[in-house]
Amino acid sequence: MSEEDDEIVLQLADSPDCARCGGAGLLSPRFSHSWKNVRGEEVPGMREAMLCPVCDRGEPAADRLLAFFVVHETLDASELQAFNSLAAAWVAVARACQVNQQQLDNEYERCRNGEL
Ligand SMILES: [Zn+2]
Repeated sequence: MSEEDDEIVLQLADSPDCARCGGAGLLSPRFSHSWKNVRGEEVPGMREAMLCPVCDRGEPAADRLLAFFVVHETLDASELQAFNSLAAAWVAVARACQVNQQQLDNEYERCRNGEL
């Protein structure tokens, strides 16, 4: 299954608070996310991202989605398609960020171990 085809669950109401700044989160999508364990085996799992109006400002896909929330206080059926494409673009960025975070964590570990 490719990442583009799998299901993304968006939680709009009662989103948890932002883990980065503690403010109110706007949107928390859950999506499948797999990683390799120490034996190199693929481990399937789920991951949750968070759209925060403070922390995510400045990232183009997040800015477009945040602007949508400013204009549309409620989500009308006629706006679902526009919302869906904006949300999908941002989720793609959020997924890529995790990869970068893992690279950062790996580099941090290597640095701590004196390998860098
Ligand atoms: Zn935040």
